Amino acid sequence: MTEITPDQRDAPIFKTFGELFAAGFSLDTTTWVFILTVHIAAVVLGGWLIFIAPNEWALIAAGWIVVHFILGSLSTTVYSHRLISHTAVKNVSIPVHLFFCFFGQVLSVQGSVRRWSANHVLHHGVDRHGKKELDPYSATWFPDTLRNFLWSHLLAHLFNHPESDAFLRSYNAKRHPIIMLQDRFYGLLITFWIFLFPMGLGYALGGWLGFVALLSGSVVGSVLVQHNTWTVNSVTHLWGWTKGLKSSAVNNFIWLGPLGEGNHHGDHHDFPRDYRNGFGWSGWALDPTRYIILLLRGLGLVKGLNHANRFEEAEIIAARKLARVDQLKSLNKDAAALYAHWENRVMALRQDWLEAVSRWETLRKESKLLQQANVSRKELTQDLRQAKALVKARKEEFFAAVEQLNYRAHRYSR
Ligand SMILES: [Zn+2]
Ligand SMILES: [Zn+2]
Repeated sequence: MTEITPDQRDAPIFKTFGELFAAGFSLDTTTWVFILTVHIAAVVLGGWLIFIAPNEWALIAAGWIVVHFILGSLSTTVYSHRLISHTAVKNVSIPVHLFFCFFGQVLSVQGSVRRWSANHVLHHGVDRHGKKELDPYSATWFPDTLRNFLWSHLLAHLFNHPESDAFLRSYNAKRHPIIMLQDRFYGLLITFWIFLFPMGLGYALGGWLGFVALLSGSVVGSVLVQHNTWTVNSVTHLWGWTKGLKSSAVNNFIWLGPLGEGNHHGDHHDFPRDYRNGFGWSGWALDPTRYIILLLRGLGLVKGLNHANRFEEAEIIAARKLARVDQLKSLNKDAAALYAHWENRVMALRQDWLEAVSRWETLRKESKLLQQANVSRKELTQDLRQAKALVKARKEEFFAAVEQLNYRAHRYSR
């Protein structure tokens, strides 16, 4: 971890958007014209679907939008994000690469997998080395929330960013032949799946009416997927309750649009190669992307899931808790000694808790091995239950001691 504090890490580096041009940014004409055109088309065609189109075609287009939205969103979260950018599984089979590269991920209209992944690796790079100027869609470049929102959500995609070795390294690192092929023919794939296919199918089914209806479904679906995915860069880095350790990302627990990527983004930045997006039961309950990865594993299409073990999770949670301990502003010698005593006590309780977690984790592994060997687990189940109870008790003790330490910090600071 870097030595900088969260305040230093999140300090703005630009005052206005105008300063970007002096720093080597320029508008990317192809992209902004494309995005603007698709947005205008979505509004016009969406209006046509709601107010003018015959009911049966409006319904068919609505179904198209829903399928497009779900497939496009999941393709980004499952494939571009977890499987490719973060190598959340050790082995991805050829059919999975083919399906997402030549169909699913194209529906997300976010650029090729190779480019998307290169940018996303830089987005996480700041967590490791603190160089936030390399994060393509940072939500902390500007001094106010509005600019940070606009940049991280939309504007970042409309600019050519200054060339960097870090981007090239990241781009060249993704060398799977199918991903490279998709990158090469990405323009053609977008033209086919977003425009030609729906227009052709619509025309075949219902003449010009079908042509316009399915084109409307495709264009509206594309715009909805884009904004849904972009909220991960904007909303989840700006608003929420549980701050992550290594980045500006926050767990907000409620933003479900990105199908598991939106609600536990703080957890994700603290352990990015996890195939899951959040720790604990709330992470499990709110993560459809995880269920799809488990389904792919069940079908034998991906193998070797990476995830934080309970000890690693507990270490992160303990560090977050300690990061929130208020520092003393001024104190006399006696108070300092007493405070130091309490601080040591908190650290000892943290160690006790982590040891209990480690013991529980070992027992769980043993239990799994015995289960495979068909040995009676009665005794081990009892041990497991006790180990789990000890983890809970020590965690509560540690949490209570942190609260006490904060209370003392306030008292002595007065
Ligand atoms: Zn992020
Ligand atoms: Zn990520």
